[in-house]
Amino acid sequence: MYRTHTCGALRLEDKGKKVVLAGWVQTIRKYGAITFVDLRDRYGITQLLFGEQVNAALEANPLGREFVLQVSGEVIERSNKNPQLATGDIEIDVQSLTLLNKAAVPPFTIQDDTDGGDDLRMKYRFLDLRRAAVRRNLELRYAVNRAARTYLHSEQFMDIETPFLIKSTPEGARDFVVPSRMNPGQFYALPQSPQTFKQLLMVSGYDRYYQIVKCFRDEDLRADRQPEFTQIDCEMAFVEQEDILLMFEGMIRYIFKEVKQIDYTAPIARLSWEEAMWTYGNDKPDIRFAMPLLNLKKPDTVFTNKADHRTLIDEAGFAIFDQAETVLALAVPGAADYSRKQTDELTEWVQRPQIGMKGLAYIKYLAADNCKSSIDKFYTPEQLLSIAKAAHAQPGDLILLLAGKEERTRKAMSELRLELGQRLGLRKPDEFKLCWVLDFPLFEYDEEGNRWVARHHPFTSPKPDQIETMIGNDPVIADAANYLRHPYARIKANAYDMVLNGNEIGGGSIRIYQRELQEKMFAALGMDKEEQQHKFGFLLGAFEYGAPPHGGIAFGFDRLCAILGGSESIRDFIAFPKNNAGRDVMLDAPATIDEKQFEELQIRLQLKK
Ligand code: ASP
Repeated sequence: MYRTHTCGALRLEDKGKKVVLAGWVQTIRKYGAITFVDLRDRYGITQLLFGEQVNAALEANPLGREFVLQVSGEVIERSNKNPQLATGDIEIDVQSLTLLNKAAVPPFTIQDDTDGGDDLRMKYRFLDLRRAAVRRNLELRYAVNRAARTYLHSEQFMDIETPFLIKSTPEGARDFVVPSRMNPGQFYALPQSPQTFKQLLMVSGYDRYYQIVKCFRDEDLRADRQPEFTQIDCEMAFVEQEDILLMFEGMIRYIFKEVKQIDYTAPIARLSWEEAMWTYGNDKPDIRFAMPLLNLKKPDTVFTNKADHRTLIDEAGFAIFDQAETVLALAVPGAADYSRKQTDELTEWVQRPQIGMKGLAYIKYLAADNCKSSIDKFYTPEQLLSIAKAAHAQPGDLILLLAGKEERTRKAMSELRLELGQRLGLRKPDEFKLCWVLDFPLFEYDEEGNRWVARHHPFTSPKPDQIETMIGNDPVIADAANYLRHPYARIKANAYDMVLNGNEIGGGSIRIYQRELQEKMFAALGMDKEEQQHKFGFLLGAFEYGAPPHGGIAFGFDRLCAILGGSESIRDFIAFPKNNAGRDVMLDAPATIDEKQFEELQIRLQLKK
């Protein structure tokens, strides 16, 4: 037996026991004739005491950090207890020691606040994984995995594996492809998700499916994406949107309870996509704090009972506002006393290339009837006060105004809201707020191709009352400048996203399950009959054999773990992640392959210049 206990197990009650431990040397401290060694394994750290005899034996071959030891000895009470350690009341009086393996000096220290930079730690990820901080992340990941499985199993979901070597499944990214040796010149694609398979499983009658599964997307790796990532992928038959929402609210609550010991009993807010865009400027709003946006150029028909704020700034002679496509306002709580330096800094912030605004106007709502503003040349004190009030500001607040092209201005204001929420401490890391975003548009306009693309994916159904609009209208966009007037621009999808603290953690939809509508959808996306048959003949065919109504959702497992673990980075929660260039720096992959492999594939490599 290599060990009787782990390095995290022994307590004062074990005093007097003869034990055998095995693990890695964390630290070595010599005090004259005796030596203390901290021995580490996955479970913790136990202090070892080497007396004269053991020490003498080590003289010729001293120990080093990360050496692998097996020791036997007696559990004794420590005179100098360490309350930080679970085993801190005891130590092992070592009688014999076996060196199981030596270790080279590790390139960084194996401790929570390591001296190793990112690249070095990734190159030696197997050492990085020994650090307790990283281990805790993987433990959390496993806890989320277990909780999801337990919940889904209790709800009769079946875990069914689906293949990795498949044909393209469009989810809006590029496919990774794999050449086939047995079919020279032909390629598999790696799944962007098991989307079509889970739908086929519904046709097959497995009405509750799930899989915690790898998905592969060859995207440019914007901040914190991975080319391979994991989803909790689910599908259900004989359901409506409401069934799905309730089922997965249940799952997320269960995960919170199991993993974080949080009773998330509060109702989960539901916002329409329009409401999210209107109020927060984006479709994954962080609702831990309010700070709603105010649109001064459009009547607010959706939420404030047709309040029209356009008159507040109309034709005041301030060309920037008068001519702008949109003007948005945001009240920043308690910031009316910002100095010139502070408002200048905010202006610079919105002028950074990532945000791209020309300038920032402000109104300081100082007291009940007292406003000071950077634009008071153009607006009367009454007008400024009305704007402040319309923006839901209280005396003491600072109202910020951005003007410009609609989309850019909305994005900028949304970023500014998040930034200020952060600075004001309103985005508390230990607070969790979930919401659903519903009623997404079915289509998105692709300017380059003057065509429609699926906002979610091509298998998402329109709202039932809008099927007519879809069937009855030609998808062709005759007037590109006015694409918003095309009936397709108004079609809403049966799609939903779950959002946690401003991150999309899950998304799904009720699917199309009739051949005719699916064909119409493909056609709307510009696929002719032949292409439809070539790419999705199997699915269209399956829909002819009794496809039940169905829908599903997939959760971004890595992201969910990162948020629950209080981290910004999904990499911290993946055992062997890739870097921002999509490389595995430990394996040094991707890499070239042997000439022989090319021959077997009957492929000749010729890179385009
Ligand atoms: N397959 C979709 C995705 O990966 C999720 C779904 O619609 O269930 O985003």
